[in-house]
Amino acid sequence: MKTAIKRQLILKLFEKQDGKCCYCDEHVILSYRWRDQQRPDAATIEHLQRQADGGSDHPDNLALACKKCNDGRQEIDWLTYRSLKRGEIHEYVRSVDQGSGAAEYR
Ligand SMILES: [Zn+2]
Repeated sequence: MKTAIKRQLILKLFEKQDGKCCYCDEHVILSYRWRDQQRPDAATIEHLQRQADGGSDHPDNLALACKKCNDGRQEIDWLTYRSLKRGEIHEYVRSVDQGSGAAEYR
């Protein structure tokens, strides 16, 4: 995705989601500075259906997520991941914290 398009998109998503991460519901920061973009609360564009699973760049498949959530999602589907992040599924949180991976829960 080109930087200009990405920036436009991230702005739109930022407005749509009131500047909050689609997973943990925490506020994200929107910055074009490289250093800021390395922060855990930096805004990133998230593919709800992962690109690896054939997810497209269509707006319906895109959401704003903080870098921390985006980096930590791995192969979990986005709805499960969101519940996990919001503490709705405590067992998942524990098992992921222990580093046992998500594959066995499929
Ligand atoms: Zn988040």
